[in-house]
Amino acid sequence: MQKSLFLKLFVLFVTVNMSCFSLNAQKKSTIATDNKITEKVLQEILQQNKHFATQGKVADYIPELGKINADAIALSVVDTNGKVISVGDVSKKFTIQSISKIIALMVAVQENGEEAVFKNMGYFGSDKPFNHFGNLEITGKPLNPMMNAGAILTTSMIKGDGEIAFEKILKMVRFITKNESINYNTAVYQSEKETGHRNRGMFYIMKNSGLITGTEDQLDNYFKQCSIEVTAEDLAKIGYFFANECVRFDGDSTYKNTDLSNLIQSQMLTAGMYEFSGEYARRIGLPSKSGVGGGITVSVPGKMGIGIFSAPLDTHGNSVAGYQMILDFSKKFHLNIFQP
Ligand code: GLN
Repeated sequence: MQKSLFLKLFVLFVTVNMSCFSLNAQKKSTIATDNKITEKVLQEILQQNKHFATQGKVADYIPELGKINADAIALSVVDTNGKVISVGDVSKKFTIQSISKIIALMVAVQENGEEAVFKNMGYFGSDKPFNHFGNLEITGKPLNPMMNAGAILTTSMIKGDGEIAFEKILKMVRFITKNESINYNTAVYQSEKETGHRNRGMFYIMKNSGLITGTEDQLDNYFKQCSIEVTAEDLAKIGYFFANECVRFDGDSTYKNTDLSNLIQSQMLTAGMYEFSGEYARRIGLPSKSGVGGGITVSVPGKMGIGIFSAPLDTHGNSVAGYQMILDFSKKFHLNIFQP
């Protein structure tokens, strides 16, 4: 009796394990095919989503930005091995805009330490548009370094007179992308400088309260950093860098810093897409940073980087077709960090 019960149990054990094994094998094999990032897959994602651009509007509050081609669209990925795969208008240059804020934050923290940088601003998530500054009056501090007020303050903390802070930011962008040809667009810079009265207002409010002590050169550096021209591929490399402990896509670990990449990615997740950040985290679940030039840089922690370009924006200032492409890409490759 006992012997046959044992035998039954043994057979049951083997069967259950065998079926688990075959289930695992099945799951693994689909993931393996799914996981192959090819130009063809990226092309499909781009083609399926490019029509969304018609639902957005190219930013023209900085008049020079309004001149960009609304139909240009690009999607670039730096995969886990550092390999770059790009489709669409990959050589199309556009201004980095707010995406420069993560580079400025990196440089400021390297020089001053995180504590000093965040002494005068918060780690708060964004529930307000990027140019909101009401809290400068209420709490006396910018909400976070991803909104304009916080970013202007961040750049002002980078050491050096005149253009030096900007040059450090540019140098870092060139290093991360391994692209020495990157420079800033002087027409966009002039346009920002001439029309950026709201940013100038924030600069002087912070100067009035003693948060900023330097000259208007510091605000100029902010305008210049926003006018740096990049491609979607450059953005994918930036995404990869912060996803991988500040190690470059080709393995160069000069700036390797796990703590810094954690900080930057946490800011991207909670404030990188402005007041849409919460919903974006729910829908996509990846640290991302957008700019009003139509770019989005995405970090897939420990894995890859994604760079997007499509100029028409939604009401929050995020690329409409860009968001849709990231949504499809992250679903297809199961990248949401909150999903097991
Ligand atoms: N240069 C832009 C500004 O200061 C950056 C804003 C953005 O990209 N969201 O208004």
